[in-house]
Amino acid sequence: MQGQSVELNGVEVTFPNGFTAVRPTSLSIRAGEFFSILGPSGCGKTTILRTISGFIDPTAGVVLIGDENQRGLSPNMRPTALIFQNLALFPLMSVRDNVAFGLEARGMGRRARRDKTEQLLSMLALDDHADKKPAELSGGQRQRVAIARALAVEPAVLLLDEPLCALDLKLRTHLRSELRDIQQRTGVTFIYITHDQGEALTMSDRIAVMNAGRIEQVGTADDVYSNPSSAFVASFVGETNQFKGRVSELAGDDAYIDTSHGRFIGRNPADLRVGDQAFVFIRPEHLGQSGCENAMQARVQRRTLEGPFVNVLLLSETGAELVMHVPNTGADTNPTGAMQVSFSSKNTLILPEGPLARIGREALAAQ
Ligand code: ATP
Repeated sequence: MQGQSVELNGVEVTFPNGFTAVRPTSLSIRAGEFFSILGPSGCGKTTILRTISGFIDPTAGVVLIGDENQRGLSPNMRPTALIFQNLALFPLMSVRDNVAFGLEARGMGRRARRDKTEQLLSMLALDDHADKKPAELSGGQRQRVAIARALAVEPAVLLLDEPLCALDLKLRTHLRSELRDIQQRTGVTFIYITHDQGEALTMSDRIAVMNAGRIEQVGTADDVYSNPSSAFVASFVGETNQFKGRVSELAGDDAYIDTSHGRFIGRNPADLRVGDQAFVFIRPEHLGQSGCENAMQARVQRRTLEGPFVNVLLLSETGAELVMHVPNTGADTNPTGAMQVSFSSKNTLILPEGPLARIGREALAAQ
């Protein structure tokens, strides 16, 4: 198996009802890369995946796999395989027959079929389950059967549409590293779509963050978490504290922003100018109690233990709700009562005003 690159050049998808689910998008995915597309429900992730696999024809633009333009090629003529959320295994067939299913249709002889199937069963640690039916397997084992079946036809690109979303948290976490391991062993290009940032951050070589039909940023997990390029990416990937304000002064690569909760200095990667409307973002783990350039007076409202850290909810004197994460060192060093909250300019990010990610109930109501 050999992974191939995938390139989208100006791909746009408008459905017959006039709704544009994917706005002109260009994207280069490298051969053998684990690439995730991360975004909220309805942002167009599945539509991009179905366009790559050939189930949807783009309204404009082209998809290249390797160097080949895929225009006019039906899904079964493309070097791709797709794994759906529900896995779509054949319930009456054994694990072995599920894995072998696509091989006969491809004209492979009996012996070659058997060898290939046994090789995949062994690679995915399914040898002991080969004669069982899907209903006799655990969620994680069923997941591996779906992957084995998809890999049997030797795709250059495996497209995965939220394959872990139906599983419980513990299994999901375990399967993340398993999927990553399978990808590395096979060298196949994986394109993985998810609305779960934890999944995208832990598994991917690179991530595209998508919002409302547009890709807002492409980068490594570290890039999108530490150097988000838009207000949406900063608020969607990881937790953050954010205030609205106006840039009031420039200081080299930094800028000052005036907000109703105070004047703060932070990084200004978008080269905002004095007078620009902006947001300032500070991660909960970057709030502390000792003397940094930025400070606010606040009171502790609530503390909840999250295992490795304590989640501290604060209310500032100016009425802002803040979230602070304090490492759980075991010692009783957690803040209580009134305190000064402090954060450094290097951990404070000022970005142009723009749409923010919706959270919790707000997101559900918008669906
Ligand atoms: P989820 O995470 O919920 O699966 P998604 O990001 O994968 O969401 P898509 O399935 O790509 O989102 O859908 C993008 C948008 O396009 C949605 O608003 C959806 O309602 C709309 N859409 C999808 N298919 C069609 C269609 N056949 N006709 C019209 N609109 C569609």
